[in-house]
Amino acid sequence: MSPSAASPRKAPPAVAAAGLAAPAKSQPQKALEKLGLRRDIDLALHLPLRYEDETRITRLADARDGDMVQIEGVVTHSEISFRPRRQLRVTIDDGSDTCVLRFINFYPSHQKTLSVGARVRVRGEIRGGFVSREMVHPGFRIAGGELATALTPVYPTVAGLPQAYLRKAVLGGLARADLSETIPQEFLNKNLPQPLSSLREALSFLHQPAPDVMLATLEDRSHPAWQRLKAEELLAQQLSQLQARRVRAAMRAPALRSPVPGPQCTLQAQLLERLPFRLTAAQQRVGDEIAADLQKNLPMHRLLQGDVGSGKTVVAALAAARCMDAGWQCALMAPTEILAEQHFRKLIGWLEPLGIQTAWLTGSQKAKERREALAMIESGAAGLVVGTHAVIQDKVVFKNLALAIIDEQHRFGVAQRLALRSKMTQGGEEPHLLMMTATPIPRTLAMSYYADLDVSTIDELPPGRTPIVTKVVAEARRDEVIQRIRSQLAEGRQVYWVCPLIEESESVDLINATQTHEALSAALPGTPVGLLHSRMPVPEKKAVMALFTSGQLGVLVSTTVIEVGVDVPNASLMVIEHAERFGLSQLHQLRGRVGRGAAASACVLLYSTGEASRLGETARARLKAMVETQDGFEIARRDLDIRGPGEFLGARQSGAPLLRFADLATDTELLAWARALAPVMLDKYPALAERHIQRWLGGKAEFLKA
Ligand code: ADP
Ligand code: MG
Repeated sequence: MSPSAASPRKAPPAVAAAGLAAPAKSQPQKALEKLGLRRDIDLALHLPLRYEDETRITRLADARDGDMVQIEGVVTHSEISFRPRRQLRVTIDDGSDTCVLRFINFYPSHQKTLSVGARVRVRGEIRGGFVSREMVHPGFRIAGGELATALTPVYPTVAGLPQAYLRKAVLGGLARADLSETIPQEFLNKNLPQPLSSLREALSFLHQPAPDVMLATLEDRSHPAWQRLKAEELLAQQLSQLQARRVRAAMRAPALRSPVPGPQCTLQAQLLERLPFRLTAAQQRVGDEIAADLQKNLPMHRLLQGDVGSGKTVVAALAAARCMDAGWQCALMAPTEILAEQHFRKLIGWLEPLGIQTAWLTGSQKAKERREALAMIESGAAGLVVGTHAVIQDKVVFKNLALAIIDEQHRFGVAQRLALRSKMTQGGEEPHLLMMTATPIPRTLAMSYYADLDVSTIDELPPGRTPIVTKVVAEARRDEVIQRIRSQLAEGRQVYWVCPLIEESESVDLINATQTHEALSAALPGTPVGLLHSRMPVPEKKAVMALFTSGQLGVLVSTTVIEVGVDVPNASLMVIEHAERFGLSQLHQLRGRVGRGAAASACVLLYSTGEASRLGETARARLKAMVETQDGFEIARRDLDIRGPGEFLGARQSGAPLLRFADLATDTELLAWARALAPVMLDKYPALAERHIQRWLGGKAEFLKA
């Protein structure tokens, strides 16, 4: 029974006019494709989110608060009441007890089917207990009819793809798909708590479980059938990573060794000498790790992770210097123009005085500038190429690129990262790749999951930082926050105000930011308040940033464009409005914009408790984490706890989530099994390995290597 059995249905869309063209795809077919369900095997691997038990009728007296049940009884009462709002209230009695059904939205057909004396079958969640039970918006129909013989699967779906259509498509896919075994027999029970069932068995079961199964074991995915699916998925992931690693190991990259004339003359040595500070031990260590990679003729594939402010830029500068010392070009990329400029200005400021020529490539530059930049890159006059993804566009030809450094790599799309790699391969040699991120992946996760990535971690901040005091403040106390801004301004400090993030609509964002800007300007007479938002043309953004950096603006109101990369040591207060709408790592990044100078700094997380935005449990957990810790790794760990690794990694990959079924935090035994099996399969059973990768990743396998 569908949850709204008696609600009016929309008429099916008119069939497209028959013509000579190929038959148009129906809406559900398009929706299937949107879900990535193209092949039979994709359909077979599309597993239910949960099940509904329509195999039996529960006695009301046996139903407890929160149970999803199906009941059958007689309608004893039916009325439209107006308190607290207009609704249809129907009482039914099944002989063991009674239950009230409530409908806020209802049609005359509801009243008709549910008229007094009718015998009906109702399905929904029971609320309440001994005194009174109710169901809100249950599904219902006339009583009688056969009971289902298997649990009814409920699949993840999208608009325009009804469950009934999807169920049929999935069962069809399941029947047709090739489900032959890819895991060699001897591994099915090797070092596992219980032997794995066959894929076919597992899938048939998960799509149509017998009614006597413990639903809990399906819900928490501990059932053997789920174990098999998770093992499959983890194996596919490990195989593809390992395969990518081996492909890479067969490739060559320029070995970047220091030139002949003594080390004193190198760019590296000069750079170190001119730095206004000494490297921290952590910077020194990761610098050595990178240097060791660059000396080999294997392409480096390394992630440099370090908290905001941990000093990744200088490590990147040293790697770039080593590359240019060896006579090769280096490219630096950031996901947006403003970030590219903010991130690399410092680095360029260090290298240009040493005689290095830099070419800029961005989307907004003038044709003439761009032509000049392209010429410098092609001739090799530019040792350093800096920009956005414009750097990987077709027209760009490098003379001899050996090192690509990508900042905030996860903000580049997967397709862009693929383009980057193919673009940069020259004469059979690949450049070394250094990716930097301020959103660290917990180390254990990185090592176990990304078999294809080496990770260097800066786990120490430069000395002399003052801790940032973080406070969570209700929106109602906005005036106090403004008072606090006044006192910071009076001390000659500067303030960031970050505006709410409303993902659905950039224009609403803009209105919010503009209004806040006006309100703050009015509340702070005599203080210049700047406004920065994503819709502004780049030159305007840059001008506003320059005014704030030079201290001419006291307050900068901004949407999240300042998320990463801004370095204004005089800024000592960060206010984040509607902090409950931000992700944890984003909040942490934002907070990292203050506390860069010697002054005591603070971060105020304003939250709203209007009815529409009741502070949810996870939002509360995020804000709490922000108050309790300032350590990026601890933040990442908490983020992992709050969201679960699948989503944590998925969100970083700006593409399909990488793991649909397995959970890296809890499925550690299966992960260990998959890690151990992957190399054996690639060596001894290459054909099975390939079939396994294809089955799970199909066209996506290439993406995972990006
Ligand atoms: P991030 O890792 O966030 O990119 P940056 O490279 O921007 O951090 O460094 C943050 C600030 O710390 C910069 O102003 C940088 O010059 C400074 N810095 C970097 N390394 C050190 C160090 N070893 N000692 C003191 N200051 C440093
Ligand atoms: Mg940086």
